[in-house]
Amino acid sequence: MKKRIIALVLVTAMLLMAYCLVSCEDENEDEDMDGEYLVLVNKENAIGEDYVPEELVDVNTDYTNGGKAIMLEKTVAEAVLSMIDAMKEAGINNVSITSGYREYSYQKTLFDRYIANEKAAHPDWSDEDIRKEVLTYSAAPGTSEHQTGLCVDLFTTEMEGLWNYGSETPNNPYDKGFAETDAFAWLQEHAHEYGFILRFPENKTDITGYSYESWHYRYVGEEHAKKIHKKGITLEEYLD
Ligand SMILES: [Zn+2]
Repeated sequence: MKKRIIALVLVTAMLLMAYCLVSCEDENEDEDMDGEYLVLVNKENAIGEDYVPEELVDVNTDYTNGGKAIMLEKTVAEAVLSMIDAMKEAGINNVSITSGYREYSYQKTLFDRYIANEKAAHPDWSDEDIRKEVLTYSAAPGTSEHQTGLCVDLFTTEMEGLWNYGSETPNNPYDKGFAETDAFAWLQEHAHEYGFILRFPENKTDITGYSYESWHYRYVGEEHAKKIHKKGITLEEYLD
């Protein structure tokens, strides 16, 4: 009789465990993957010419590179400021935001400028090849994540010797430079705690469509950022 009871208890426990595993998985699958901070903008998913974030705010210029005017979505602005404050507490005092929200027309100006530069550098290339080249490092207007107001490009004064920082030009040494800073090492450990992910990691170009950008951080909210960080995946893979 005793053995039977023990067996019964064991079977019940196993069933309960199995049920928990299944229902926990269900919970993951039911998760709201259309959250307001999960919008996917990339080469295949344009945001459109007319999109403007609902709640844009001016970022406190104490936190921007050279005190320049930068706008971000309200929640993202708060999150990035507390992240920079935390970096200061950790002894990293030289970080600022160098780019945030970009309106469609600005992205168009940038893109057209890169096209002109490439044409000048490669007069024998076809228009298609020129466009292809520019697309490896710059978003076509309407496909830049910066138009969402949900991402930032960060800057540190450790980088000041480098040219053209923040303008996302090809073979720009500032990529390698930022990846070598204390700020970057800290962000690798902590950005997700503030809701940010490294949006274009090294060796993920085939998935994101962009070269490695060690300075570009995208807000997805804490919960999702932690999961993405833990899994070591890109936003594209997370939403797939
Ligand atoms: Zn960027």
